Amino acid sequence: MHNLIAPSDHSLVISVNGDFKPGLFESVRYKISRVFRCPTIEVPLLQDLDFAFDQGRKQYHSTLILEELAKRAPASAIKVLAITDVDLFIPVLTYVYGEAQLNGKACIISTFRLKEGLSPMHTQDAFLARVFKEAFHELGHTFNLLHCPDHACIMHYCRSEQDVDRKSEQLCRYCGVFLEDALKRVRS
Ligand SMILES: [Zn+2]
Ligand SMILES: [Zn+2]
Repeated sequence: MHNLIAPSDHSLVISVNGDFKPGLFESVRYKISRVFRCPTIEVPLLQDLDFAFDQGRKQYHSTLILEELAKRAPASAIKVLAITDVDLFIPVLTYVYGEAQLNGKACIISTFRLKEGLSPMHTQDAFLARVFKEAFHELGHTFNLLHCPDHACIMHYCRSEQDVDRKSEQLCRYCGVFLEDALKRVRS
């Protein structure tokens, strides 16, 4: 059972869709609130993703999900992030960790590939670190941040889980300034 609390102005909505333990992403949600300095609220906006399922590829077309997500986004929400466990693709790529509407409202990440190659010692922490990094990255795009050449920067484009593990949980100075400006505009 989810509590459907009306999102306050400028809250960031997180829609979790998948077979996850309740509360699994609490630490991710907390870190997102801190980075984007806004309240975050979990609201289930998507139930059934069948509309985006591609029979040939046996994967889900993330762009279609994004369109639906943006339509269902509460007007008061600054951004909407979906976290799903299904495997996502866009037509030109084998799979994607996530996708965002550049300078738009919605983004999505998938945990499907992020579970791969985790050391048994640190499974949960390492997994959640990856989820946070990908969530931060895709939300960054919704604030109009582009890919960054700095390998340590959250906005660096990752091709593998190893790339994701290698980057820090922070923006480089340049991208950080860019996000600050974008956040000021959202609030004004
Ligand atoms: Zn990206
Ligand atoms: Zn950067």
